[in-house]
Amino acid sequence: MVNRIKMKIIKKPAEMQKLIKKYKLKGKTIGFVPTMGALHQGHISLIHRARKESNIIVVSIFVNPTQFGPSEDFSRYPRPFKKDAGICRKEKVAAVFVPKPKDIYPANYFTHITVEKLSDIMCGKSRPDHFKGVATVVAKLFNIVQPDRAYFGLKDYQQFIIIRKMAGDMNFPVKIIGCPLVREKNGLALSSRNAYLSGEQKQRALALSLSLQMAKNLIKNKNVKSAKSIISKIRKTLRPHVNKIDYVEIRDAETLETLGIVNKRAVIAAAIFIGKTRLIDNIIV
Ligand code: AMP
Repeated sequence: MVNRIKMKIIKKPAEMQKLIKKYKLKGKTIGFVPTMGALHQGHISLIHRARKESNIIVVSIFVNPTQFGPSEDFSRYPRPFKKDAGICRKEKVAAVFVPKPKDIYPANYFTHITVEKLSDIMCGKSRPDHFKGVATVVAKLFNIVQPDRAYFGLKDYQQFIIIRKMAGDMNFPVKIIGCPLVREKNGLALSSRNAYLSGEQKQRALALSLSLQMAKNLIKNKNVKSAKSIISKIRKTLRPHVNKIDYVEIRDAETLETLGIVNKRAVIAAAIFIGKTRLIDNIIV
């Protein structure tokens, strides 16, 4: 389905919009994969899905400053652009959009998007402006890339729900597609932030996926349904291995409302610290 063309690297929003106009005049459909770079198999799985469904794949690589808190890792976030461009080329991406922060947020930038309620819970509690930054940059990227379909990983489950809501609420003419979480063989969810972990820390990080898998087994095989008791078992499993537990929560998988009893499709989500690295993971039951 995908055309063979030389990959373009585009830096300016107006230039990207001009190129998209050309594609659209030719009747092409646009599949869009927004990322912050340091691409791994998780990102590549989104590109593969896009390739199945769209003629033109656009990947954006932008470490978005507004979604990082003041004491977070914005400046040290990995930026291996050459390697990322090589991966995109190999994956037959038509265009990589790599804007500079000043081109996305020029001086006197005033407009932000907040998806109420959903942005204040879970990760939003400890990262107060995070989802405002995410929703704003994704809305801007949608206006720049004008995709027919946009692909998001279920690794960032809350982000997926928020973007889907934002796109619906704002009438963006784009289909939001959630793609399965990709893990290492040992269960560790792939993440660009895993690069921060030492060997010993990576070993300890395994407790995260293991504890969620254990919780799924309790629900599926042992008929445990009390969210409180499942959460307490996850916390007990995590405690010896992690430096801090940010949260462990069980919520309705569609609405993210809290669940006392796990009697419908639910997401069990957790955020922990290994050293200074914050890791998230989730499992659907
Ligand atoms: P990021 O570069 O971390 O902002 O992620 C860009 C996109 O890739 C988001 O939609 C993420 O949810 C997705 N992604 C990151 N890690 C994974 C993973 N392990 N499995 C599936 N999707 C992922």
